[in-house]
Amino acid sequence: MKDTHDPRNGTTHSNGTVHIPFTPGDRFRWDGIDVKAYSSTTAVSDRITKQILFHADENLCSEVRYFEAEPGGYSALEKHAHVHAVVILRGHGTALVGREIITVRTHDVVFTPPDTWHQFYAAPDSHLGFLCIVNGERVRPIRPVDADLEELMRDPVLKRVIR
Ligand code: MN
Repeated sequence: MKDTHDPRNGTTHSNGTVHIPFTPGDRFRWDGIDVKAYSSTTAVSDRITKQILFHADENLCSEVRYFEAEPGGYSALEKHAHVHAVVILRGHGTALVGREIITVRTHDVVFTPPDTWHQFYAAPDSHLGFLCIVNGERVRPIRPVDADLEELMRDPVLKRVIR
């Protein structure tokens, strides 16, 4: 059988193997993977993009996504019942997880526990690219309401980083 090409999933070989070659460039890209706008319950930053490398299906219960923030870009401040396993692939920056500010750099690994506020920030002088592995079955993230923000911002350290 001839190899087929699925625009979402790279090259699928007849035996089921999927190979998605990395494509060098300004932004980290994988062959055939669409670069999407970052989605969240509200738009927080246009300086971050999303690429879905693997969709969850009956064989793989997790989705594997790659997010890339430009220098100064960041993800949404949010929490939810599901967890994230994050692997930094590019650059450096910081991450808020719960009440901790963590310095993150290429090859670091971060786990965000259930119902824990989290946000990832590229440093002003660096991209921050990371794989984020998440359960395929999940509900929409919760974004902070004014009372949550007020409470978080009472901590001067958090106040400095939260966007
Ligand atoms: Mn999240």
